[in-house]
Order: sequence, then C-alpha cells, then structure tokens
Amino acid sequence: MDATANDPSAPRPDYAATPDATAPPPADTPDEYGEALDAAHRHAARWLASVQERPIRPDLDVDAVLARLRRDLPEEGTDAAAVVEELADATEPGLMAMGSSRFYGFVIGGTYPAALAADWLVSAWDQNTGSRQPTPATAAVEETAARWLLEVLGLPEGSGVGFATGATSANLACLLTARDAVIRERGVDPALGLQHAPPVRFFAGDAVHTSVVLAGRMSGLGAPVTVGADDQGRIDVAGLERALHEADGPAIVALQAGDVHSGAFDDFAAAVDVAHLAGAWVHVDGAFGLWAAASPRLTHLTAGLEHADSWATDAHKTLNVPYDCGVAIVRDEAAMAAALAAHAAYLPTVESIPDPYDRVPELSRRARGVPVWAALRSLGRNGVIALVEGLADAATALAEGFRGIRGLHVTNDVVFTQVCLAAPTDEQTAALGEWLRAEGTVWASSSRWQDRTVVRFAVSNRGTDAEAVRRTVDAVARGAAAVGIGA
Ligand SMILES: *Cc1c(COP(=O)(O)O)cnc(C)c1O
Repeated sequence: MDATANDPSAPRPDYAATPDATAPPPADTPDEYGEALDAAHRHAARWLASVQERPIRPDLDVDAVLARLRRDLPEEGTDAAAVVEELADATEPGLMAMGSSRFYGFVIGGTYPAALAADWLVSAWDQNTGSRQPTPATAAVEETAARWLLEVLGLPEGSGVGFATGATSANLACLLTARDAVIRERGVDPALGLQHAPPVRFFAGDAVHTSVVLAGRMSGLGAPVTVGADDQGRIDVAGLERALHEADGPAIVALQAGDVHSGAFDDFAAAVDVAHLAGAWVHVDGAFGLWAAASPRLTHLTAGLEHADSWATDAHKTLNVPYDCGVAIVRDEAAMAAALAAHAAYLPTVESIPDPYDRVPELSRRARGVPVWAALRSLGRNGVIALVEGLADAATALAEGFRGIRGLHVTNDVVFTQVCLAAPTDEQTAALGEWLRAEGTVWASSSRWQDRTVVRFAVSNRGTDAEAVRRTVDAVARGAAAVGIGA
C-alpha cells in the first residue's frame, strides 16, 4: 500500500476532498466507456420498462438465439458501443421476463432500483473484495450489510457472514465449516484430510433441497442420510433423534426453512434441541424461508431457528437484489475462518479480523454484498417486513383465488410463499402448466410433488400485489377452461 496514505502531512490531490459527484468527467479525459455504457443504459431502461407487460416467456428458444449469434470468432475487434448494440439486439427476444410480478417459476426475485444501480457501481468500481485492506470501501459496505442482515433476520450478533454466489455455495461454505468444526472437536486436525478423521454423519429430512445434497457431496460428507418428513416436507424429529442415537461420532444435521413445494418450515425448536443434545452441528438451509424471521407476524414459522449453528440464505430471491447473491452465516466466526481462510505471503490481512475471503469458498469475488446494503438501505426494517409479509399475503390470495376455480386443488398448506396447484389428472395439470407458460401472462414451473404433477407458484417478486394476483388467477381460470379442467 502507498506509505503516504495515512500521513496527514503528505500533499493531497484534489480528489481527496469531497468529490463533486455531479461534475462531468474532465474534458481532457478520453471517455472510452461512455458510449458503451450509454448504450447499455438505453437497452437496460427499455428492457426494464417492458418487463411488466411483455409476454413473460421468451419468444426465441436457445437454438434460435444461437442462430442469431452464429459467426466465427472475428479476426478483428469491434467498437465497444457496437458490441453492446449487437448483444442487446441479438438476445432480447430470447430473454425471459423474470422480473415480472407474475413470474412464479423456481424461486426468483426481481430487483429493487437501488440494488440494481448499486450493482452497476460494483461492476464499474471493479473491486476484488477478497481482503479488507486493499478494498476498504466495499469491505466496509459489506460489513455494514452483514450487520444489518443479522439484525433483520434475528440471528446472533457477531456471526460470520460471507457473500457467496447463491444458497448452494452458501450451503457449501456452512457445511465445510461444520465438517471441520466437528472433526476438530474430536481432536483431529481437519487439514489432514477426511482419511484421518472420524467419519462425519450427515442427516436431513426427506424433503432436503438438492443443493444441500450437492453441497454435502462437494464437502466429502456425501448425500445426507434422510430421516423422514411429514406430508408438507417437515423433518421427522423423532426419526432424526433415532438416527442420531444409532451411532456415535461427529454429526451434522441440515434443517430447512422453506420447502420449495409447500413452503413448510421444520420444527426448529424441537429439531435443534434433539440435534444439540446429540452433539451435532445444526445447519439451516433457508434460501428463501429464512426471511420469514424478519416479520413479527411470521416468526412462529422460524421460532428456534436462531439456536442453530449456521444458516444459508439468498439475497437474490426474497430480498430482490440482482443475481447473484447468497449469504453464508456461521455463529462461530472463527470456525468459519478456520475452514475457509486462504493464506499466502502476498495476500494482505488485517490483524485478526477475518477478511471477506475467509467466509466463502472463493478467493477473488465481486462486492456482491453492496447491492444487499443498497436494498436494505432503501427499504429500512419496515420495508423488509412489508416485503416479506407482502409475498406471503400474495401467496395466500393466490391460493384463495385458485380454490375458486372449478376442478383445481391447492395441494399444500400455504404457510409462506409457495402454492402448488393440481387438476383432477396429472395430464390436465401438465397441460395447464404448458398453456400458462405459452400464453405468457404468467410463468409457473411444473413439478412432481407428493406423487402428483403440480403447477408450482413461488411468490418472490416484490411487485406481486393484489392486481398481479388478480391477473394471475384470471389467467389460470382461462387456462383451466382452455385445457378442459372442470368441464
Ligand atoms: C434456491 C434454493 C437453494 C439454492 O439456492 P441458489 O441460490 O439457487 O444456489 C437452496 N435451497 C432452497 C430451499 C432453495 O429454494
């Protein structure tokens, strides 16, 4: 670092004073970015203005977009603005309006203006926010966002918080931490490798999300042993207790806040107790469900979850920041750093304070916590509560509307943001899903749940209000009629 940086007597260039953010760039600076960024801004604005009213499905499939892009790698370069124009023109008909208030596929959030704009700045600043010292600004913004997240989610102050690409990598960060912690507890140095460690047992409910299974496999724990679940996907706590006591040795339990089909939450108070009594580490996959903890009205769903040891969630789902942003949270910040920190002589560290790269499985990374800060700053605590409760209210209203359509059944107990819909036969349900996606007013995924085909509505977009619900129920009613349901 520049040795004069902290020397108050050193001469300071003008920009050390308060910058005038409204001043144009100096005329003698060649603005090599301007035209390309202007083009990007124009296309972005046009896209964003179209998202709520265009058909949600893409007009082109991937082969059609490939055909539009097909050309050999050019020998010579092209002007930046022309590249942006070509990219936008070739791709726009193949874009899915995922930001629509009537997009219910998978679990996909939209984007708050403040978060999107902050994300643009993150790209322009291009700070590799791995360690605190070289990138003080973005590290400080992320640390502030981390503190606010713990506060709004009711998780222990001082927990380690890492900004990962999504809940999959956040689950991985947490499970790697858990694995090393339970091995170290048995007096073995986890750095020696799993072959020198006692076997670590890994348990989850039957409705465990595929990303937890993947994270288990990537971390060497393997896929979890499943211990049962009820008809909504909540872990069978008695089954968990039996499984934990079948053998000795280190153990990790993955619980779930928010099942992707039913939205159900595990009984955390009971399950965490049972797991901790058996000496197990408790991790919670709360990709979207963790956010229920922000709402005083919904905390009955998450009660006891704060006693777990680690939590994974997404900001790109419920918090509506742009892709990508997941959050790994570990109660014992030191355990997180012990498992995930990288050391090398050329990598600067600041005393004993963990760096951003001590909390995620990657070294180089964009400052993806900055849009989280922007979203939380623009919403405030009450805005977050209103967001989460609004999503849950919209799901309740959707279910009510669907129940009024002849021949359709809501197949889950709607407790949070997920609604599953079925017709009398699987064929009719599949046809309804296809009709909806092709018609374009609504986009919902088809799935299999509890041995039947369902159309799945995951409410995650900040814009899903009463009007969006009305148009959705109307589209579903038209679709049901069109495919002969209830005839
Ligand atoms: C989406 C989701 C994940 C995975 O999150 P990504 O951000 O897609 O990596 C994990 N668990 C649940 C319950 C999810 O809904």
